[in-house]
Amino acid sequence: MSETDADTLFERIIAGEIPADVVHQDETTFAFRDISPQARVHVLVVPRKRYRNVAELAAADPQLLGDVVATARKVAELEGIVESGYRVVFNTGSDAGQTVFHVHAHVLGGEPLGLFGA
Ligand code: IMP
Repeated sequence: MSETDADTLFERIIAGEIPADVVHQDETTFAFRDISPQARVHVLVVPRKRYRNVAELAAADPQLLGDVVATARKVAELEGIVESGYRVVFNTGSDAGQTVFHVHAHVLGGEPLGLFGA
């Protein structure tokens, strides 16, 4: 995936140009299943407006970051994993494995998750 393709991928999903398994959407955020799930539940939550990463989003629009986190919670409710627990991850930069530079929260759960690490 080239940098340009990676940058525009989520905008194209939000626009409906690329099919996605949509879990929830509202005025400011969009949630859909990861194409390569790393847990039984693996949903991506993105703001409709593009920022490259969570630090940029937090600095520019903390309200929108709040919306993303609230949607992550909504996804957990819809998926029935509030009680069992879930993880919300923002990979930030290449060492963290960020490949799509439109900020997104990974919502992971539905089974016991492994520890963090390389
Ligand atoms: P990152 O590595 O934190 O940037 O996460 C990008 C995520 O996008 C990865 O977990 C990919 O599996 C996921 N992904 C890539 N292309 C698609 C797609 O077309 N639909 C849904 N998820 C995708």
